Amino acid sequence: MKELTMQDLVSYCKTMGFIFPGSEIYGGLANSWDYGPLGVELKNNIKSAWWKRFVQTEPNNVGLDSAIIASPRIWEASGHLASFSDPLMDCRACKSRHRADKLIENWLTEQEQKGNHIETKSSEAMSDAEMEEFIQAHKIPCPDCGKCDFTPIRKFNLMFKTFMGVTEDAKSTVYLRPETCACIFTNFKNVLRSTRAKLPFGICQIGKSFRNEITPGNFIFRTREFEQMEMEFFCHPNDAEKWFEHYRHECMEFCKNIGVNPEKLRFRDHDKEELVFYSKATTDIEFNYPFGWSELWGIANRTNYDLTQHQKFSGEDLTYTDPFTNEKFTPFVVEPSVGVDRLLLAVLCSAYTVEDLPDNDSRIVLKLHKSLAPIKVAVLPLSKKLEDSAQKLYADLSQDYRAQYDASGSIGKRYRRQDEIGTPYCVTVDFETETDQSVTVRDRDTMLQERVKITELNDWLRNHLK
Ligand code: ATP
Repeated sequence: MKELTMQDLVSYCKTMGFIFPGSEIYGGLANSWDYGPLGVELKNNIKSAWWKRFVQTEPNNVGLDSAIIASPRIWEASGHLASFSDPLMDCRACKSRHRADKLIENWLTEQEQKGNHIETKSSEAMSDAEMEEFIQAHKIPCPDCGKCDFTPIRKFNLMFKTFMGVTEDAKSTVYLRPETCACIFTNFKNVLRSTRAKLPFGICQIGKSFRNEITPGNFIFRTREFEQMEMEFFCHPNDAEKWFEHYRHECMEFCKNIGVNPEKLRFRDHDKEELVFYSKATTDIEFNYPFGWSELWGIANRTNYDLTQHQKFSGEDLTYTDPFTNEKFTPFVVEPSVGVDRLLLAVLCSAYTVEDLPDNDSRIVLKLHKSLAPIKVAVLPLSKKLEDSAQKLYADLSQDYRAQYDASGSIGKRYRRQDEIGTPYCVTVDFETETDQSVTVRDRDTMLQERVKITELNDWLRNHLK
């Protein structure tokens, strides 16, 4: 099968109504994307699957939905105001803008592909001066014009600034959150008090984050506005390593269980030099996107850094006293953090299939995990004369499933349309239906058909959609 390209995927997503270019009728806004009728369903299903796995079925975990705009003091405490920046370089020749670490990373990947192994530490572990030196020494070219003539590195803070209230001065400056986790820490005491939770437990949140990325791109992989699903799992310092291993494993399992291609998934453990100073261990789950291996999910043992910082800056006591031993300590935190959009991209890349059929025919099938499919069941009347009973069936099924009604075109074309958007089951109402009170159910993957009694259809679907 021909390898899927990003171009194919972008055009497929637009045609089918998964993802549209943002602000398109005004000429577009670079790197912004709008989720269409199918995209929003898929996105919601991914978020529900995550919530079910990490909140609903974890007796110790709870959810949160905090504000996007929070006190700027939070970003002082977390270090984002001082150091949430990327190393920016301009190409003097063509004026294009690049991230120094990514220039090095991409160049190293290219060299690997050519069979040249270059012994070096990762770009994330290099200082700015080391990155500049490396780029010079290896004459790494500008990806846009091919010259190697870059300005020195400048730091560029990634937080979006705005103003709150009627005046636009320093005092009213606020920021759009660059990650969802900060307000999990600031609500640690509130959650403890209101739920009477005992360690270990996790607080989970899904929400929008904003980063003024220097080099957004690769469709929805890196955008300036995106959605994250984050958990802060609070535990005793002695148990943090165990919980880190646990969630490292569970996050990978989750990806596989929702249909991300296991052959395109791998762990990348950060070596000591790459770790941020407060982290004891960090692993990225990487996915092999059409543009190469890149981070999908980050899992980190963040020690007690965040709670300690917020305690210092707010003056609030954020320690925990063990009710059994009376030991007082600042909990350690294990943080699995994943972008909804990046996960959705990995899901789409894994599911998109072009299948050869007999007689030189082929079909596009989106082999999504059934729980993620935007439309669970399509109701197709074989003839216009059957529309009344088919409409009634559709209305009944819609009470329990996201269903679609399609009466136009040949039945074969209608099956193909549903295959292309990943609908697991098509229910055909035919001329026998009235006499035997049954319908034909067709399976997306096997294309096999089965006769099912209408009275049993709901149970049948419930069992098969698990
Ligand atoms: P990268 O190195 O790719 O910039 P990061 O290490 O800065 O990512 P984190 O701060 O660890 O990312 O964020 C956690 C998760 O949020 C990432 O694993 C990714 O899935 C998602 N994410 C981060 N930045 C973006 C973005 N600009 N667009 C889409 N998703 C993002």
